[in-house]
Amino acid sequence: MGDWKETYPSKGPLTVVAELPATPQPPDGFIRLSGPLEHDNIVNGDGLRAVVWTQGCPNHCPGCQNPETWDFAGGFEVEIDEICRRLSEFPGQTGLTFCGGEPFVQPRACKQIADYVRDKLGWDVWSFSGFTYEQIKETGGEAWEFLKSLDALIDGPFILSQKDLSLRYRGSRNQRLLHLERGTGKIVSQE
Ligand code: SF4
Repeated sequence: MGDWKETYPSKGPLTVVAELPATPQPPDGFIRLSGPLEHDNIVNGDGLRAVVWTQGCPNHCPGCQNPETWDFAGGFEVEIDEICRRLSEFPGQTGLTFCGGEPFVQPRACKQIADYVRDKLGWDVWSFSGFTYEQIKETGGEAWEFLKSLDALIDGPFILSQKDLSLRYRGSRNQRLLHLERGTGKIVSQE
């Protein structure tokens, strides 16, 4: 990952300075989580949402509220089929949000879950990422495929010096709430 955090611009347009790191993903059919599934969440996206908390994050933002989610060997692996079944048992949800940890280091597993809740449950899908939209697009591959399955992305690392608790769903002013065109990844609007 290099020193992209040090060179991440605090003002002005976001710049791609590095690709996402190549990190080991769980075996096919599994996802590594940091905690139990959540439901009826109203703070990680619009509506009433289920939340999948992923394990493993290379970003190590100073001031991160969830440092226990950084270790790629931490947390626990769960079968994706089990996750989908349990999500389908949550009544009244309008969407699913991936939080972390860093969801984009497990893009294959996250996309499978995103596809399930969208196609079978009719939910919208949001994700947080410590990487920027531009970094994910530049990386391409499975990370970009996961992004294309989303309706919204909250992007960028948490930067302590830009902390602002008044922002919707975001912790620091550099982070953006990007509404996406599902299937293409095109940015429709941003906050
Ligand atoms: S990207 Fe998120 S989980 Fe990772 S260190 Fe930064 S704030 Fe913490």
